[in-house]
Amino acid sequence: MLVVMKAQATPEQIQAVCERIEQLGFRAHPLPGAERTAIGVTGNKGEVERGNLEALSGVAEVIRVTKAYKLARRDVKEEDTIIHFPGTDATIGGRNLAIVAGPCSIETREQAFAIAEKVAAAGAQFFRGGAFKPRTSPYAFQGLGLEGLRIMAEIREAFGLRIVTEAIDNESLELVEKWADVIQIGARNMQNFSLLKRAGKTRKPVLIKRGMSATLDEFLMAAEYVMSEGNYQVALCERGVRTFADHTRNTLDLSIVPAVQRLSHLPILVDPSHGTGKRNKVVPMARAAVAVGADGVMVEVHHQPELALSDGPQSIYPEQFVEMMDEIEQIARVVHRNVPRGIRIEAVAAAGEV
Ligand code: PEP
Ligand code: MN
Repeated sequence: MLVVMKAQATPEQIQAVCERIEQLGFRAHPLPGAERTAIGVTGNKGEVERGNLEALSGVAEVIRVTKAYKLARRDVKEEDTIIHFPGTDATIGGRNLAIVAGPCSIETREQAFAIAEKVAAAGAQFFRGGAFKPRTSPYAFQGLGLEGLRIMAEIREAFGLRIVTEAIDNESLELVEKWADVIQIGARNMQNFSLLKRAGKTRKPVLIKRGMSATLDEFLMAAEYVMSEGNYQVALCERGVRTFADHTRNTLDLSIVPAVQRLSHLPILVDPSHGTGKRNKVVPMARAAVAVGADGVMVEVHHQPELALSDGPQSIYPEQFVEMMDEIEQIARVVHRNVPRGIRIEAVAAAGEV
């Protein structure tokens, strides 16, 4: 159910409708738009009596939403969702592309700082790096844990980069929620419903990576899980799916970008690193991602990829990252987007970091 408020509805009227919904035993999700506020109604107690809400002041209409995902849908909120990071110029969604770059894993303080300095200087606004790694082998490097989060917090201070890092379970989420700016839910956890619900209870933006065999509906339902708990700051990330193709690690499904944008107001990034698994294919596919209309890219960058403890073969060198930024900056213009690197470089230079 969706309650559409009149354009001139007051905050008090919106509040009163939300309270009424909650009294009826449902959950109210106010979704402000440019013209008017819509209030999503969720809860598993069955149908809401429409008349109960239609009569309230400020209500324009009450619509039944029969589709499975209700809050992530574009017809519930027409405007694109833009996630802001107070005190910075970084955004996810909107005209400016979000550029997330960094190593697969945080390995040492020196490694993380060496890479952060390069990606900040090239214009990234977000630094990625795993402190908790979901590895196929239990004997592979599992990440530095809390120590990795502390290193990333230092990087935020030093370079002004916002921190994106993965939570692999409820315990790590507890820590990631405290230390990071964006909580990443990895491909292997896209249908870990208890983790998604727990992420929905935080007030930090959540970046959900597409499961390696997830359909569009399943992908959007993962977002719905987070939003149903009251956290509407959700972004998606295409990172390749499993196919018979063996020239790449995964097949980067770029057509999901316009498909998501048609159905949902949520931003969608593309990760060409996991999406191809091969260094020489990362920059070309990053260019394609921007051309197709992605809201940003996430790439793995390493200054010594041959020594990396995870995903070295798909990590690009800092010089390649600069090249990628130069190229996507030009492509972005063609699709009426912008790579806001100038602002960031000035900010970093002003802070005396470069
Ligand atoms: C990652 O971003 O480091 C990662 C593990 O990605 P994915 O969940 O897409 O495999
Ligand atoms: Mn990786």
